[in-house]
Amino acid sequence: MESRHSGFGRERILVAPGPTQVPPDVLEVLGRQVLHHRSPEFRGALRRVRSGLQQIAETSDPVLLLACTGTAAMESAVINVADPADKVLVVSAGYFGERWVELASHYGCNVVPLRYEWGRVPSPDDLEAALRSHPDAKSVFLVHSETSTGVVLDLERFATVTKAAGTLLIVDAVSSFAAVPIRVDAWGVDVLISSSHKALMTPPGIAFLVLSPAALEAAQRTQRPRLYLDWERNLATQIGEEPETWFSAAVSLVSGLEAALDRIGREGIENVYARHVTLARHCRAAVKARGLELFSPDDDTSAALTAVRMPNGVGSTAVVQMMHEDWGVTIADGEARLKGSIVRIGHLGYVVPDAIDRAVDALGGSIDDIARLRRTEVAASAGTQQA
Ligand code: PLP
Repeated sequence: MESRHSGFGRERILVAPGPTQVPPDVLEVLGRQVLHHRSPEFRGALRRVRSGLQQIAETSDPVLLLACTGTAAMESAVINVADPADKVLVVSAGYFGERWVELASHYGCNVVPLRYEWGRVPSPDDLEAALRSHPDAKSVFLVHSETSTGVVLDLERFATVTKAAGTLLIVDAVSSFAAVPIRVDAWGVDVLISSSHKALMTPPGIAFLVLSPAALEAAQRTQRPRLYLDWERNLATQIGEEPETWFSAAVSLVSGLEAALDRIGREGIENVYARHVTLARHCRAAVKARGLELFSPDDDTSAALTAVRMPNGVGSTAVVQMMHEDWGVTIADGEARLKGSIVRIGHLGYVVPDAIDRAVDALGGSIDDIARLRRTEVAASAGTQQA
């Protein structure tokens, strides 16, 4: 579809922090005839995808694929490792940290939140102190890359703290996996959760978990009833010589994910991480060159997305809408309490510098248009009052 500013022949672009753009080779695979989920072709794809994800996570722990989005995988973590009334510690510095609080509270856990103002960077020292005050906490839930703010915490240092305390560490890596390094075995992450539609460049519909022996042991001890999201039952079908899924797999997405993993393999995961850092720098520089202020940290930790504050009097919801309709560029508004005051540009997955330039041009142009409109309205209303 053509839009006012996108220019002749220029396609709409998606530069949101998820879902993200899907590259042409992945789109081509997604368009192929559906495989049967008990066929040898699908078994092969499932084996290769689980192994590809393991390689990126740098782990020998098993990967469990589920046909759902990230939230259901998060829910599966709560119901597999925590019984009602279990004390769990949640690090929350944004909308997705609050999702952990909500899920664990919903399932009757005794939730101890370690809360930060949204946009702040959580500190492992605070977690260490919280665990000292709550030595009976059985697990720690946190968000590696808080997509609502652009903050990425120092996962290695957090894992050092939980390992020393002997608690399970459950990590939402939905917007960090394959964008920011995560070394599951070396750091000691017990449960790592991510999904298809962020840096993995595939549409939404697959979530996955990396499960440590300690996490699987905890799942065996918990009494809570569960079925579709039961780790043990699902994992039993996915490992071994003839892997399959207990349910009808999201077969086409698994094939798409395989193509995306091939792409990442060809580039090399360390190059992928380096590209995310470079693109994030490019984005921050372009935003600042437009005279706009960053909300997310102005450093290389913030590699998945950049959050930008709105100038006084300009609402981000209108800006995002104008960018989408008039410029053909889709980014994301702020979430929940940040809605209206920030926008978020995603540079994870299949994004090139030109897309970032277009996004920042559209952002600056939309802000200018809206500010101008607002000045005209204010002047008109002042004129009406005088008359
Ligand atoms: N956690 C983080 C950090 C996310 O960015 C998202 C989605 O944007 C989720 C969890 C929830 O995932 P989903 O929307 O796939 O259920």
